[in-house]
Amino acid sequence: MLPQLPEQADPRRLCEQGKRFEGRVALNSLDRLAPLLTSTEGEAAFQLVFDRDEHKRSRIRGHVTADLQLRCQRCMQPMRLPVDADFTLSPVEGLREAEALPEEYDPLLLEERLLHPMDLVEDELILAIPPAPRHVAAECAVDLSEYRDSSEAAEPAQRENPFAALKQLKRDS
Ligand SMILES: [Zn+2]
Repeated sequence: MLPQLPEQADPRRLCEQGKRFEGRVALNSLDRLAPLLTSTEGEAAFQLVFDRDEHKRSRIRGHVTADLQLRCQRCMQPMRLPVDADFTLSPVEGLREAEALPEEYDPLLLEERLLHPMDLVEDELILAIPPAPRHVAAECAVDLSEYRDSSEAAEPAQRENPFAALKQLKRDS
């Protein structure tokens, strides 16, 4: 059985040791992610492999899958976002080190020696959420053709249109 993901760890040490973790985490235990979701039921599955590449560079490869429940920013109804993400990180201590990384790596900026490895999983889930999540047109409760017509018209919409009101709200704020 694979060891449990430690609460806190020195990522470079984990890389030195060639540690590998695999597990599941309840979405409602991820405090930064949870407020972005309409439902925190369910789990994310993750794999984290800490090792070193052929240049002895510390490397963290991860894979995260989850089904996130979000709010569609067009019709305001819940929508499902399947996440299936791979990432490759290398711990760095500053911008210079980050810039020196080969393209296939994303920098993992270390502010302290220790980090919460579960943060890597949570970060990836947060990154997977688009700034304005929306259903694909066919699944959205808003009729897209109508929406486009009214929003492109120079005159204000004639009918009561909740989305016209919403747009106005956004413009005002
Ligand atoms: Zn929608």
